[in-house]
Amino acid sequence: MGADHGASPGSAAARLIAWHKRHGRHDLPWQGTHDAYRIWLSEVMLQQTQVSTVIPYYQRFLKRFPTVQALAAAPLDAVLSLWSGLGYYSRGRNLHQAAGILVERHGGRMPHDPALVQTLPGIGRSTAAAICVFAHGGRHAILDGNVKRVLARYCGVRGYPGDSAVQEILWRKAEALLPPPGKSARNIISYTQGLMDLGASLCARRNPQCGQCPWRADCVARLRGLTGSLPEKKPRAALPQRSTVMLLLRNAGDILLEKRAARGIWGGLWSLPEVEHAREARAAAAQRYGVRVLAARTVPGIDHGFTHFKLRIEVMLLDVERPTRAARRARTAAAASPPVAWLPLAEAVTAGIPAPVRRILVSI
Ligand code: SF4
Repeated sequence: MGADHGASPGSAAARLIAWHKRHGRHDLPWQGTHDAYRIWLSEVMLQQTQVSTVIPYYQRFLKRFPTVQALAAAPLDAVLSLWSGLGYYSRGRNLHQAAGILVERHGGRMPHDPALVQTLPGIGRSTAAAICVFAHGGRHAILDGNVKRVLARYCGVRGYPGDSAVQEILWRKAEALLPPPGKSARNIISYTQGLMDLGASLCARRNPQCGQCPWRADCVARLRGLTGSLPEKKPRAALPQRSTVMLLLRNAGDILLEKRAARGIWGGLWSLPEVEHAREARAAAAQRYGVRVLAARTVPGIDHGFTHFKLRIEVMLLDVERPTRAARRARTAAAASPPVAWLPLAEAVTAGIPAPVRRILVSI
């Protein structure tokens, strides 16, 4: 699933750090602080939300709750009202709950071990690592959505990144690419911020700007022309296949349409009568519509795709004699029978019928 590009990890990290110093973002309100509370708040707000949207919320939130103690002591309603408009409210609820745990069990201090940070509500592996990098200068790999894309491309990792086996490979790549141990905390912070910035800017989902990228010389996706296909998309689950047999009852150029029930697929539209198996066609036509079947043959069917299943439609063409008046009256009297209509083919084609039925009608 992965490919080696032979780059020295140290040099990849060094290039990213140098790039970040020149081109990365340095002026965001949560940068330049080692206050774990502020960093944690920014990381949570930035999940699924753009930087420009987050900034005013972040500033308002900190003004109202400047410390983890203030947040823990606040009523949940006050927290959620400040979160209002930012979306994904479970983030606000989890933040509030985690603040309580930090104050109660950790003296209001964020642990240095990401495994411990990860046990707090709403903090996943990557967010825990990011907090420990930015707050404590710890050497930990991150792997958020953008970073998965960058690493899948840079390292040429095949497969869907949501798949746990692929994710495990990406975590290993993320760890292997970290700046060597023993370097300054500033390096790991710059490297991590650089990786986030690269994913948010040059290595965008569409049209990555590889020409300006610090990893362009050994990026597998760029070298092999795979930037458009990596990371791979989620494989589509095969749709279930269903089948039906439609009956085309024909008499002197007219065909029979039946109104479908209001609920269910094609609810309330006119359509062709259906049976489960072709062998039931003759008997069903006689019993349901009072016709006498003169000849029956199958005609080419069609396939139709719905969002949740595929439908194979077999078609039986039945030349029939119209029902007698008595049979029609008997049918009309039977309350459960859906309305039917005999229409000239040209008229039936323009009636309110489902698209696949129209395809069938124009094909005969
Ligand atoms: S070279 Fe292009 S595809 Fe590769 S990491 Fe850089 S921007 Fe992304």
